[in-house]
Amino acid sequence: MSIAENIKRIQSSIGEDVILVAVSKYSSDEAVEEAYEAGQRYFGENKAKDLKKRAAAMPDDIKWHFVGHLQRNKVKYVAPFIHCIHSVDSLRLLEEIDKQAAKEPRTIKCLLQIHIADEEAKFGLSEDEAVEILRSPELEEMSHVRIIGLMGMATNTDDLDKVRSEFKGLKAFFDRLHNLTEKADLPDDDDRAPTFPANVEMRTLSMGMSGDYDIAVEEGSNMVRVGSAVFS
Ligand SMILES: *Cc1c(COP(=O)(O)O)cnc(C)c1O
Repeated sequence: MSIAENIKRIQSSIGEDVILVAVSKYSSDEAVEEAYEAGQRYFGENKAKDLKKRAAAMPDDIKWHFVGHLQRNKVKYVAPFIHCIHSVDSLRLLEEIDKQAAKEPRTIKCLLQIHIADEEAKFGLSEDEAVEILRSPELEEMSHVRIIGLMGMATNTDDLDKVRSEFKGLKAFFDRLHNLTEKADLPDDDDRAPTFPANVEMRTLSMGMSGDYDIAVEEGSNMVRVGSAVFS
């Protein structure tokens, strides 16, 4: 099947309310252009310097997502244009994103990456660590980042029940945080303290890749990151 057909098939299977991020990290510029011609506008990459080059050569209305581990010293390459960073796994990284975004100045959307797989190698925060970041006084001072949700990667396994239960766990955590952020909008005279700063809103749940996006969407994902199923 062609790239255009792949995109059409995946988008119709996930539904129009779920955002498809086409992960082009292993694909050529020509393949990205082909996807763009087919109407795709969200693309994901995982190498900051390569992405800087590619973004400069591609149409301006592409919304670039950073989906891999991001080192602090690479943030500067993507800060001028990146639409959303999916892989925030420390307060220090968030501080660097805020600092680089302030130079533009612009606001960068971020997702906290939560560790849900039982593999050592996958990056991400525990639930407690994520809550610690969301409640930190430092975050409140960051006016150039906006935390819009969570991202997670399931274990790479054929055991789809296991994958499903990992997605279910992340969705449950997402819902708990979402309910807390709703409380942040309480009127001034309400004596319950706001739970998270105003630059936190829990509305995006990025989970699902080529092998598991259908399960992820069934479990409540509203953003999938799909590479090989789009580009091969
Ligand atoms: C590479 C990558 C993807 C896409 O993987 P596929 O299996 O090719 O769909 C999604 N998310 C992250 C974080 C990745 O690094």
